[in-house]
Amino acid sequence: MKFNENFKDIAENYLFAEVADRAAKYTAAHPDKKVLKLGIGDVTLPLAPAVISALHSAVDEMAVKESFKGYGPYEGYGFLREGIKDYYKHMGVELAADEIFVSDGAKSDLGNILDIFAKNNTVLVPDPVYPVYVDTNVMAGRKVIFANATKENGFLPMPDYKVEADVIYICSPNNPTGAAYSVEQLAEWVKYAREKGAVILYDAAYESFISEEGLARSIYQAEGAKECAIEFCSFSKTAGFTGTRCGYTVIPHALESNGFSANKLWFRRQATKFNGVPYIIQRGAAAVFTAEGQAQIKENLAVYKRNAAVIAECMDGLGIWYTGGKNSPYIWLKCPDDMGSWQFFDLLLNEAQVVGTPGAGFGKNGEGFFRLTAFGSKDTTAEAVERIKRVLKNR
Ligand code: PLP
Repeated sequence: MKFNENFKDIAENYLFAEVADRAAKYTAAHPDKKVLKLGIGDVTLPLAPAVISALHSAVDEMAVKESFKGYGPYEGYGFLREGIKDYYKHMGVELAADEIFVSDGAKSDLGNILDIFAKNNTVLVPDPVYPVYVDTNVMAGRKVIFANATKENGFLPMPDYKVEADVIYICSPNNPTGAAYSVEQLAEWVKYAREKGAVILYDAAYESFISEEGLARSIYQAEGAKECAIEFCSFSKTAGFTGTRCGYTVIPHALESNGFSANKLWFRRQATKFNGVPYIIQRGAAAVFTAEGQAQIKENLAVYKRNAAVIAECMDGLGIWYTGGKNSPYIWLKCPDDMGSWQFFDLLLNEAQVVGTPGAGFGKNGEGFFRLTAFGSKDTTAEAVERIKRVLKNR
């Protein structure tokens, strides 16, 4: 027996595991210090009351023979797929319910989708970005090339026709930079993908944070995208489902190549390797789309957006360059005094007891940058900001 050699080519620790490890070591060595975490992008507000009530009712249904549910459909229950379909309709995107696949979250689907693509595809990934795209492809032995996202291009790389790619990742609003594409910019990517016969894997996990006009909430707002794009979305950041686990992937019927339909391949893959999301959880997720659910999740999103504004004000006061925070829960800042990302991480941890995420962990262009999340509680964010001010003002 031999293990997969490709694991040699990925970092030993997943970025957020490394951040958590360093923070845990610090806490063990300094038990008297209170460490504030603005590192991993996990939510802190509880589920909306409408979701909780739907979860309770679903639990009660499971207690009665007549309404008990065993295995559900691999692709998700109709009631949730219809809810998602209507949500898209409000964005001006018409989907068929069977183009929507419910899952236990975007991370699994983003990794698992690679099962339907040939190994010899060349993969184009923005740098910096959510590390899952690179790691999953490297594990599978695929060639990965990068599209540089820099301060100069507003962290929004545009297509370069000299570059040949088969699978293109786009994350908008972007984790970690918070940059978000406009519909027109996505239309350029769609044009490029169609010309190259490529597929776009579009990660819309943060779409609900978009607040500026003209920015895309779905790649299908760009014409022609149904022929070349798969969209991944999640209830994690939108509705606080990071621990509850539910997401969805959209694969239009129009996406076809060499005689195969991507939708059919994915259905076949899921039927073989996935047994669906629990009924109870899908009922909770469906409640997100009720009028009550929508109003309640918007209140939570407003709390996170306010936190982002508090962090942004702090950076303004310190004269530190940053971007993001408006259409995403992340503030992406330039480490002061030309410090490296991990150097700045250690400084904040040791001197302010604040944990952030080093930009270098998201790709080489992330070196010298740092990500702070707005997902902390209001009090944690306010205290972290005061500590950062105290430490950085005296430098
Ligand atoms: N996509 C991006 C860009 C993310 O930042 C995250 C989580 O941080 C995910 C996907 C994973 O989402 P889920 O919780 O649905 O697996």
